[in-house]
Amino acid sequence: MDAEPKLTVVANLDLCDGYGECVKAAPDHFQLDDDGYVVVTDENVTPEAQGRVIAAVTRCPKSVLSLLADGKPVDLP
Ligand code: SF4
Repeated sequence: MDAEPKLTVVANLDLCDGYGECVKAAPDHFQLDDDGYVVVTDENVTPEAQGRVIAAVTRCPKSVLSLLADGKPVDLP
């Protein structure tokens, strides 16, 4: 039996423009720092949090966030 892949989320901070859409979608995984840029507060994505994190990744207007499965990027629509 295959184990479920381990999901994590990472941010390319060079691209972040501080819109905060990620924080609205998944405040348990993202916050903004004092300058308004994203901080990933929890990179581990549980099955329970998966929907919120995917919403954050897909709503980010700058494509800052990536969902990884066992370290490999997951293509999201
Ligand atoms: S939605 Fe994207 S650009 Fe906006 S704060 Fe989050 S990561 Fe940065």
